[in-house]
Amino acid sequence: MHCKRCDYPLWDMAARVCPECGLGFSPVDYEFVVNSVRFMCPHCRQAYYGTGEKGHLVPRRFTCVKCASAIDESEMLVLPTAGVSEVQTVGGVVAWRERAERGRLVSFFKAIGQAAFFPHRLARFCGQSARPLDACWFGLIVVVATVVLCVGWLGVLVTFFQGSRLGMQGNLMDMVALVWQGALWIALPTLAIAALTAAWIGSAQLILALKNPRPVSAAKTAESFGYAWGACFLMAVPCLGFYMIPFALIWVSVSAIVQLCVRHEVGAGRAVWAVLTLPLLLVVAMAGWIGLMIAMSS
Ligand SMILES: [Zn+2]
Ligand SMILES: [Zn+2]
Repeated sequence: MHCKRCDYPLWDMAARVCPECGLGFSPVDYEFVVNSVRFMCPHCRQAYYGTGEKGHLVPRRFTCVKCASAIDESEMLVLPTAGVSEVQTVGGVVAWRERAERGRLVSFFKAIGQAAFFPHRLARFCGQSARPLDACWFGLIVVVATVVLCVGWLGVLVTFFQGSRLGMQGNLMDMVALVWQGALWIALPTLAIAALTAAWIGSAQLILALKNPRPVSAAKTAESFGYAWGACFLMAVPCLGFYMIPFALIWVSVSAIVQLCVRHEVGAGRAVWAVLTLPLLLVVAMAGWIGLMIAMSS
């Protein structure tokens, strides 16, 4: 929590103006990572933890359990929670959750940036709340857009050439069949990715919960994978996108691993296994199948 004008640190201070530049401030105007700061009673220094949205106190106004004064978050002293560095307290927003207020398009691209480059921060901003449907909706939009840019244009091209070959003789049924075929180019890969993601979430959840003394929220797991698909935009490069698929999938996996580590407070090893087990099984199964085909054809 630093002065918004001169950046002077405002921790553990009862005054409500910056001692450096005189600008007024209130903890209420800041965003913290959930649970990263303690708010202390200005009368007796009893500590309270900010577990609400953006790390604030819920309720904001209450009676101090130690000295019985009526206190409000705006008058409290603030310090990072023990063991938390100052940098780790800086809260921010999950861009996609703010799309109604900040605009859908801007939030969409910001969320892609968060998923691809700052999955660690993204996971911390999510805090204790989970909105899996929200995240999966985001993932679906990214995947559809990516499929359209990666292979969809090929479908449109093929459809267009077939259409022009039919020429003016083509009747309505032929046209409908063509449009249907064009739609399949987009629908089939999307459905395949959606089905695989569902299996992916399930397998990760199983491994995360295996012999884990703490409860593992499936909603948080699903939310992490939903956002992780934001990192697949590499595949959206027209023409080149197809060759980018392996890199994009690795990127999606890394984003998911990092998010799961933070969301479930598990070690990197467990998160890596949770995310990579299903893809590895699929690769082995595919290699086995190809091997079998080669053996049978020779
Ligand atoms: Zn200042
Ligand atoms: Zn008190």
